[in-house]
Amino acid sequence: TAERARPHVVLVASPGAGHLIPMAELARRLVAHHGLAATLVTFPDPSGAPSAAANSSILSSLDAAGVSAAALPAVALDDLPADARLETVLLELIGRSIPHLRSLLRDAAPLLAALVPDFFCSALLPLAAEVGVPGYLFFPINLTTLSVMRTAVELNDGAAAAPGDEVVRGLPDVLRLPSGVSLRREDYGDGFQNSEEPVYKHLVEEGRRYRAADGFLVNTFHEIEPAGNVDELIKQVMEQGTFPPAYPVGPLVRPSFGEDDVSPACLEWLDRQPAGSVVYVSFGSAGALSVEQTAELAAGLEDSGHRFLWVMRMPSLDGAHNNFAAMYDRDDPLAWLSEGFLERTSGRGLAVAAWAPQVRVLDHPATAAFVSHCGWNSALESVAAGVPMVAWPLYAEQRTNAAVLSENVGVALRLRAGGDGLVGREEIAAAVREVMDGDVEGRAVRRRAGDLQRAAAHACTPGGSSWQMLEEVAGKWKAAPARRLC
Ligand code: UDP
Repeated sequence: TAERARPHVVLVASPGAGHLIPMAELARRLVAHHGLAATLVTFPDPSGAPSAAANSSILSSLDAAGVSAAALPAVALDDLPADARLETVLLELIGRSIPHLRSLLRDAAPLLAALVPDFFCSALLPLAAEVGVPGYLFFPINLTTLSVMRTAVELNDGAAAAPGDEVVRGLPDVLRLPSGVSLRREDYGDGFQNSEEPVYKHLVEEGRRYRAADGFLVNTFHEIEPAGNVDELIKQVMEQGTFPPAYPVGPLVRPSFGEDDVSPACLEWLDRQPAGSVVYVSFGSAGALSVEQTAELAAGLEDSGHRFLWVMRMPSLDGAHNNFAAMYDRDDPLAWLSEGFLERTSGRGLAVAAWAPQVRVLDHPATAAFVSHCGWNSALESVAAGVPMVAWPLYAEQRTNAAVLSENVGVALRLRAGGDGLVGREEIAAAVREVMDGDVEGRAVRRRAGDLQRAAAHACTPGGSSWQMLEEVAGKWKAAPARRLC
């Protein structure tokens, strides 16, 4: 058929909604706008947890978009120690799936034009070389984190002669990037904090593998990258020889999904609120707060006097900032709210357990601000909806995102924790009031959110910067001879 004759790109998403969501949108655009056929490949969930219902609703929506979905079969992982780190489990899962992916490529993509694994799956790049097609890495964060990664790799050029070598050079206490962005150690992602930790070495090795890619497709767009030096940053990332070129192709924000799986109660509730009156509070798919912090947040929201929609998770009892299993937890997080809280805030506040259809919430006319963990997808969704943020980063590279969004991009107000590590109720209430109706900082982030919303929409329309970047890359793929695998 004509579909079988189109050059075919195979995208591979590592486990996690934060990877699957933007890659599904990337696949959809490649098919709808750039003349390619696409298959999105997923892994079985390594935790053995039922794959989130939200995931299956993303995958089932692909069909209508003309994108094929393919699931890799489960591989045995029971030889790994029970306490193996999540990254170790993921890397093993990916490595052991290579033979399956090889046969899947043969069956699913007769005219293979390119292989696009996400940044956790750089171990798949040699497969692209083996088959003889371009291999591009999908990078679901921004150019700042890509620059940090490149810096860590370059620092170690010549230092560690071979992977596994013990000599590892860490990042400086203050890092001035070519873009002009300046990051302090506390703003680095978890893995970049301490070069003594095995995870840092692992990141450096991962970054070295990035060099085998022909390019990065980055889920970002010009205007959300730090002002003034955008072109410089993109030029640096694209032209500096040590890393392949980076193409900003975002924001890849999916139309809402998961409506079938969650009660639309929160949307109905939003329908009853005045326009521009509600603060949405959520910490992504895995963010977790301690018991004390949950209580401070509740009190801060109550004291702010504003309306709020809060997606609550079970508090973490061990102080961890994330809990990847919380989404499957059947316990009721609302039971942790203090006596009388729900009654006192009834009518102006709604707490929902576990999950909300976030894109629809952000797009809702009642929603005016977002207290966010600054996961990059959440930040892009907020900006695409024109909603300013209060930045409350918890783990991974969220602190870097929060620093850039507040200090360089100017679309977020940043919360500060006290000496005890807790963000106090006064701080929360004050930030919510400022973002909602403050005259100075609040006004500035609200205006900036509106500007960025327009820029984001323009970037992805024909002729916009992200559209053109994707058209350029798709053009390269189509020009190269596709490989006939069967
Ligand atoms: N999400 C959602 N409802 C929720 C929590 C998260 O729809 O209650 C979606 C959100 O819209 C985003 C993704 O899950 O697309 C989370 O990705 P992000 O990068 O923001 O954070 P992560 O979960 O990776 O920390």
